[in-house]
Amino acid sequence: MIPFNIPPYVTESSDYTNQAIASRKICGDGSFTKRCNQELENITGAPKALLTTSGTAALEMAAILLNIKEGDEVIMPSFTFVSTSNAFVLRGAKIIFVDVDPKTMNIDPACVRAAITEKTRAIVPVHYAGVCCDMDELQAIADTHGIPLVEDAAQAVTSLYKGRPAGSMSSVGCFSFHETKNFSMGEGGAVILNDEAMIERGEIIREKGTNRTRFYRGLVDKYTWVDIGSSFLPSELNAAYLLAQLEQNVQITEKRMARWDQYHEGLAELERNGLIGRMFVPSYCVHNAHMYYIKLRSLSERSDLIAYLRQRQINAVFHYVPLHSAQAGLKFGTFVGEDRYTTELSERILRLPLYYEMTQSDCSQVIEAIYGFFAR
Ligand SMILES: *Cc1c(COP(=O)(O)O)cnc(C)c1O
Repeated sequence: MIPFNIPPYVTESSDYTNQAIASRKICGDGSFTKRCNQELENITGAPKALLTTSGTAALEMAAILLNIKEGDEVIMPSFTFVSTSNAFVLRGAKIIFVDVDPKTMNIDPACVRAAITEKTRAIVPVHYAGVCCDMDELQAIADTHGIPLVEDAAQAVTSLYKGRPAGSMSSVGCFSFHETKNFSMGEGGAVILNDEAMIERGEIIREKGTNRTRFYRGLVDKYTWVDIGSSFLPSELNAAYLLAQLEQNVQITEKRMARWDQYHEGLAELERNGLIGRMFVPSYCVHNAHMYYIKLRSLSERSDLIAYLRQRQINAVFHYVPLHSAQAGLKFGTFVGEDRYTTELSERILRLPLYYEMTQSDCSQVIEAIYGFFAR
């Protein structure tokens, strides 16, 4: 059986988690959380990284930090996970969904430009599959209109755009450490605060709207309720589990990359024969091997391949029913511009198994099975 995913695990996670238990201090913001924050600051070069309870929570913090309110418009791709959108809907925003670039499935800057109005308050690029969006183009649009960018970098921890780390190229970058991501704490995430002016408020929002962080630093003599916020900080147990993986992020990424390269190489002939499309990584991006997907020629061919692989004990999956056509998407958002690629490609994308412990022979089996399917 080759599962779609096995959450990453390194043995040092057990050591650290045991240390956290032995310390009897497992609430948030202890030493393991601080060490994770430091690792994330090293990875991103950002002035402040803060662990959160999820990638969703990180996006919710971003929406609060940007003061998103009723009637504001927020531009994002329709081809993304629900949390990208929900975080802003919770603040009362109207979501403006736009089309993707078919080569990367990332938001198309030309579509963003065409969707800007005087109500636009944020643009949310999603670095799909760990492949960075065209950030120079998006930054130019953002600068022209004075609109902040929020990166949904949930899938892109350690990816680079022209040498710049994902998560560091916007006001707030959002990471996820869900068990399907490259580095995991079960449920967890982080906000990357790149704007010095947002750091103090970020700490307050994350601590239920209190100035507890300043209190601990001895900067105020009592802590009180000063702003809106929620409980966005995870337990030390989860942070300890994650820390070992962040410390070994280079090795973890190398192993994933070996499998990614094996797929890419191994499936090249099928692409040359016009049977599938492979992933495309623009030259400006160094990706993190988060995902390997192929594009089939039709929805029915994809369904057939999924069934064929399942019979051979291989679990491949698809995702993202475009948000603009989902029940809540119809209510809270609208697609602006033409849906040339989002719906059509969402029906043809298939994600192949890819995880830290996947072996070369697992990967060969998947590749052979795909060849077998097309040879029928
Ligand atoms: C995983 C993911 C999220 C949500 O992260 P959680 O940690 O599961 O809350 C948000 N956006 C994208 C693009 C994701 O892949």
